[in-house]
Amino acid sequence: MKRFLFLALTVLGFLTLQGCKKSEKLIYHHKLGKTEVVLLSDGQNTGDPSALIGASEEILNEFVPTGTLNSAFNIFLLKIDGKKIIVDAGMGFHLVDNLASEGLQPEDIDMILLTHMHGDHIGGLLKDGQKVFPNAKLYISEKEVAYWTDKEYMSSLPEGQQRGFIGAQQVVETYKDNLVLFEPQEIENMQDLIPGVKSIASYGHTPGHTCYMVENGGDKLFIWGDMINIAAVQVPHPEIPTRFDVDPDMAAATRAHILNYLETNKLNVAGMHVEYPGVGKLVRSNRGLELKLD
Ligand SMILES: [Zn+2]
Repeated sequence: MKRFLFLALTVLGFLTLQGCKKSEKLIYHHKLGKTEVVLLSDGQNTGDPSALIGASEEILNEFVPTGTLNSAFNIFLLKIDGKKIIVDAGMGFHLVDNLASEGLQPEDIDMILLTHMHGDHIGGLLKDGQKVFPNAKLYISEKEVAYWTDKEYMSSLPEGQQRGFIGAQQVVETYKDNLVLFEPQEIENMQDLIPGVKSIASYGHTPGHTCYMVENGGDKLFIWGDMINIAAVQVPHPEIPTRFDVDPDMAAATRAHILNYLETNKLNVAGMHVEYPGVGKLVRSNRGLELKLD
């Protein structure tokens, strides 16, 4: 756990520990037809916008006037036709406790869909080197696994940057019998990965980053993972990357393209670092596109 906390804080350096309310267990229910989407909060945080690359003074004054941002670590539980599915696993601070509040044990989870393999999204998958979810199939895009398990590339990096790779490799190795690798599609051509959930290629934040769209009875929710890290700034200004993006230019192009689709199609959205309740709508005003929380 300590290692993953370190990784997560490395990845999300903009969060301050003072603002980290780790003890806060928050749950939020969102209905999509017969499907239930449950936010299981792994913690709410505050931080500053220093992780943004190239945000002008003017943009920061407009969109972060107090200099403080609210953030979170979110996991989404999907209840689809009797199946229990989680999207990402956070750092594991509250995941097992939050599942218990929903009447579930880790053994009850049938599937895990990962957006990507940064430490703050996979930390909850292992405890003492063992699987936390022994019965779950673990879905990860092929490209994502290829990146994090490329030992030759890893050894070319400074030691500090290798830790994230080692953590991801431990997950891949420990869950090797549960792994399902897949290729997500472009948003215009998204396909069912499992019944009721489509996978969308959203590369840039990491090389295999994947978003998911949950759909039932005409109701839809787009889970953007870390396609956006700082919604207050990156929704109106998708061209601004963060230093957590592996490929900042690709991340910016992906963000602009997918946000345009989401706005055009009026999709509700959810994100892994969107403050409670983690779910909202995109609305356009004279300030540009913004996220309005539920
Ligand atoms: Zn993250």
